[in-house]
Amino acid sequence: MKNVCMIGTGYVGLVTGTCFAEIGHRVICVDKDKSKIDLLNSGQVPIYEPGIRNLVKKNRAAKRIRFTTSIQEGVEASDIIFIAVNTPPLPDGGADLSFVEACTREVASHAYKYKLLVEKSTVPVQTSNRINQTLSAMSKNRNIVEVASNPEFLREGSAIADFLKPDRIVIGVQSIRAEKMLRELYSKIKAPMVVTDINSAELIKHAANSFLALKISYINAISQICERVGADVSRVAEGMGLDARIGKSFLNAGIGYGGSCFPKDVSAFIKIAEANGYDFSLLKSAEKINNDQRLLVLKKLEQALWTLKGKTIGVLGLAFKPNTDDLRNAPAVDIIRELLARGAAVKAFDPAAAEKMKALFPNIEYVDSPMDAAKGAHGLLLVTEWPEFGRLNLSKLKSVMASPVVVDGRNMFDPLEMAKKGFIYHSIGRPVGARLEENPRPRVKVLS
Ligand code: NAD
Repeated sequence: MKNVCMIGTGYVGLVTGTCFAEIGHRVICVDKDKSKIDLLNSGQVPIYEPGIRNLVKKNRAAKRIRFTTSIQEGVEASDIIFIAVNTPPLPDGGADLSFVEACTREVASHAYKYKLLVEKSTVPVQTSNRINQTLSAMSKNRNIVEVASNPEFLREGSAIADFLKPDRIVIGVQSIRAEKMLRELYSKIKAPMVVTDINSAELIKHAANSFLALKISYINAISQICERVGADVSRVAEGMGLDARIGKSFLNAGIGYGGSCFPKDVSAFIKIAEANGYDFSLLKSAEKINNDQRLLVLKKLEQALWTLKGKTIGVLGLAFKPNTDDLRNAPAVDIIRELLARGAAVKAFDPAAAEKMKALFPNIEYVDSPMDAAKGAHGLLLVTEWPEFGRLNLSKLKSVMASPVVVDGRNMFDPLEMAKKGFIYHSIGRPVGARLEENPRPRVKVLS
C-alpha cells in the first residue's frame, strides 16, 4: 500500500486517484477549487463519467480516499505526489505550465523528507528540467524531491476501464528507487510497462495523441476525396482498417476531433517541435484539416436549406464525444456560434452536456429529447454520436420536422435507409442517399 497525493482533482486526478484507492492505496486528492472539494466531501462528483460516483463512494467509505484544498496536507501524508493539474493552451498554441509551476513550488516548500513527484499532466518534453530547477531553488533540502513522469492515456467516457485495464503504462524515471516505487504502485494492474528516461516518457504522450489526431485527419482527408469521386469513406475505412498494420480505430470520418486533449496536444507538439528547430508541417496539416472539417457540416446544411437565416436547426449532441458532459473544444460550440451568426435559431439536445452548454449559450432552446429537437426544425444536425441517436424512430422523426433535412456529422445513419424514409440526407464522405441504388454495392468482402 502506498500513500499517494493527487494534486488537481479534475477528470484525470479524480479518476486516477479513485482508481489508485480502488487497487488498495491510500489517496489524498487536492484541488485549489474549494467548491469542487466541498462537492466531493458531500458525496457528489463534479464530473459526468460512467461509474465514478459509485467508485468514489465506495472508496470514501473504506477510508482509502479523501479530499482537501491543502497541498501541504497532501504532501505531508504521501510518498508519491502526482501533478494532475490542467495544462491548457496559450494563445500561441504552446502549453500553459503555470499551474504545474505553482504546485511544484508548493510541493517544494512542504517537503521535509524524500518524495517522488510524478508528472501526470500532459507536459512538453523537458518539463522535468524546469520542475527540477524550481525544486532546487525552493526546496529546504536539495534533492529531497525526485521527479518522474507517468503520462495518462485514459479517455473520457471510459476513463475507469482505461485506467484499470490500460494498453500500457509508461513511466519515465532517473533512479532505481523511483522505478521500484512506481512498479509497486501499479503492481495490481496487468499491462505492459514501458520504463524509460523522463524525456522519452514525456514525448510518448504528445507523440501518441498527435498520431491519433493525424489518423482522424487522414480519414477526413480521404472523405473529401470520396465526396468528389462518389466513393464511400466508410467502406474505404473498413478496407483499410482490416489491415492489421493500420487497425480500425480512429478511422471514422466526421466532424473531426475535439475535447480537452487532442487539439491542445497537437498545437503544443507543433510548438515544441518549433522551439527545437523542427517544422512539424505534417501536424500543421492535420490541424488545418480538422478545423476545416468542423464547419463543413454547416456548408452542407446551407446547401440543403438555401440559407440558414430564419431557419430552425435541431442540434443532436453537444459534448465533444458521447458519455461525457465535457464541452472543452467541443465542435458543437463552434457550430452553434456559427449557426447563430448566420441567423438560425437553435434547438439543442444532449443527454449530459446541456446544463454546461447553458453557461455558454443561455439564449438558445434546450429540449428534453431528440424528437423535441427535431420538432418544427428545418434541419437536423447530428454533432455527437450518442448511441441513443442510432435508435431513433426515423419515420416519427421525419413526421415532426418542418423539412426533412438531416446532416449527419458522425455518419451514424444508413444513407439508403434515410433516402427510403424520404429524408434529404447528407453525411461525411458517403454518397448522398438519393444516389444510392436499391441494392447497395457489396460491402468489402473479406476473403480468408
Ligand atoms: P481539469 O481541468 O479537469 O482538472 C485540473 C484540476 O487541477 C482543476 O480542478 C484545477 O482546479 C486543479 N488545479 C490547477 N492548479 C492547481 C493547483 N495549483 N493546486 C491544486 N489544484 C490545482 O483537467 P484534466 O482534464 O483532469 O487534465 C489534467 C491533465 O491531464 C492535463 O494536462 C491534460 O492534458 C491531461 N490529460 C487529460 C485527459 C482527459 O481526458 N481529460 C487524459 C489524459 C491526460
